[in-house]
Amino acid sequence: MKITPHGAARAVTGSQHLVEACGRRILLDCGMFQGHRQESEKLNRSQAYDPASIDAVVLSHAHIDHSGNLPTIVKNGFRGTIVSTFATRDLSAIMLPDSAHIQRGDIEYLNRKRRKKGLPDLQPLYEMDDVMKALELFVSIPYGRPFDLFDGVKVRFLEAGHILGSSQVELELREGGKTTTLLFSGDLGRKGRPILRDPDLSARPDFLLMESTYGGRLHEPPEEAMDKLSEVLNRTSESGGKVIVPSFSVGRTQEVLYYLHELLIADRVPQLPIYVDSPLSFNATEVYMLHPECFDARMRELVQDRQTPFNSESVRFTQNVEDSKALNHDTSPMIIISASGMCENGRILHHLKNNVGDPRSTILVVGFMAANTLGRRLVERAPTVSIFGESYERKARVEVINGFSAHADSEGLYAYASVVGERAGRITLVHGEEEQALSLRDRLREGLQKDVLVPRMHEVIRL
Ligand SMILES: [Zn+2]
Ligand SMILES: [Zn+2]
Repeated sequence: MKITPHGAARAVTGSQHLVEACGRRILLDCGMFQGHRQESEKLNRSQAYDPASIDAVVLSHAHIDHSGNLPTIVKNGFRGTIVSTFATRDLSAIMLPDSAHIQRGDIEYLNRKRRKKGLPDLQPLYEMDDVMKALELFVSIPYGRPFDLFDGVKVRFLEAGHILGSSQVELELREGGKTTTLLFSGDLGRKGRPILRDPDLSARPDFLLMESTYGGRLHEPPEEAMDKLSEVLNRTSESGGKVIVPSFSVGRTQEVLYYLHELLIADRVPQLPIYVDSPLSFNATEVYMLHPECFDARMRELVQDRQTPFNSESVRFTQNVEDSKALNHDTSPMIIISASGMCENGRILHHLKNNVGDPRSTILVVGFMAANTLGRRLVERAPTVSIFGESYERKARVEVINGFSAHADSEGLYAYASVVGERAGRITLVHGEEEQALSLRDRLREGLQKDVLVPRMHEVIRL
C-alpha cells in the first residue's frame, strides 16, 4: 500500500493524492493548480499518472483546487467513478461549468494577444462537454455510511466543516488479511462557524493525511469579526455611502449573509438593502438551500422558522446585467456583495469602479487576497488603483475582516491532530505552503511525539 501526493505538497493548490492498494488506484481529489500561470498551466495539462489507469476519484469537497481537474482527466481517458457527498456533487454541477466558462474567457484573451504576434491559437484546458462527461460519473453517498467501493476498499465521509458538503475521507483497506484505515482530512473548517456543523473528530485512523494551510498562524475570533462588521455598516449608513463586499460565491457569500442576518435580528445594524450581485452566488445559495441535512442546529432552527439569512426581506439577488447596472444609479445606502473574491474579474469590478472614488463608501474585504490582484492593492490601501485599464483615485475606506476564514488555524489543526491522530503511526502534512507545513510539523513532533512527514510532490509514501 502506498500513497503519492501529485499536488498540494508543500503548496496549497492542485490537491490530488494517489492511493495504491488492494490492486486498485484511487485518487483522493483532483484539484486544479492555481497561481503562476505558466507553471500551473503545465501541471494542469498533463498528469503525473495515466488518468485511464485510475479506478475511482474520491472527492473531499467542491472547491476548484480540489475538483477543478476532474474534466481534464476525463478528457485524458479517465472512465472510473467519482465519489462524493450529495452536496459536493451539486456544488460541482455549478462550479465545474463556471470553471470551463472562465477558461474559455482566459484562452480567448490569450489567443487575441498571440494572434497579434503571429503565434498559433491555444486550446482551453477543457470545455463544457468534458464537464458534462465528468458530472455523469458521480456517485453520491451520505455522511457516516461506509460504502463498498471495491473488493477490500470501503469509503466513508465525515463532516469537515469547511464548505457545504465538505468531508474528511476515510478509506478502510483490507489487504492480505490485514485492515488499514487511512484518513484524509480534506480542508478542515473551524469550530463554531455559521451554517455548517463542526468538524467530526470521531475517526481514529492508522494513517492520517491532513491539511496545513494555516499551520503556523492564528485567526481572529469570529466575535471580533461581527463587531467590526456592525461598525462598518453603521458608519457607512450614517455617511450615506455604499458597502462593497468582494466575496467568493460559494461559502463566503452565504456566511456574510448569515452574519448580516444575525446582526439585524439583534438590532445591531440599520436595515439596509443587501444586493447579492453574482449569478454563481445565486446558484450556490440555491444549492445550500437544497441541503439542510448539512446545516448546524442554529441554521436548522432558522430554516424551520422560515427565517433563513438568504430569503429575508432585505436580501435581493440580481440576476441579469440590467439589474446589476441599475445599482449604479441608485444613490441610497446599500450593501453590495459581488464576485470575484479577489476582484480579478466579474461584476465586482463595475461596483468598485463606481464607488472607489467616493469617500462615503467602504470596501469591505472579507477574504484572502493573493499577491498581484486588485484585491491586494485595495488591502494595501493604495492611493490609486487600476480597473479595466484605467486609473482611479481611491477615496473609499477599505476595511479588512480576517475572522471569516473557512480553515482551521494552527490551534485548530493541532487540536484535531492530537485527537484524530491518536492512533496514527504517522501524520503526513499536505495542502500548506512550506513555511506553514513545517511550522505545524515541528509543533506536532514536539507536542505529540509523533512521526510527522511533509512530503514533496510525487514523493512515494508507504503505508
Ligand atoms: Zn477548500
Ligand atoms: Zn483547498
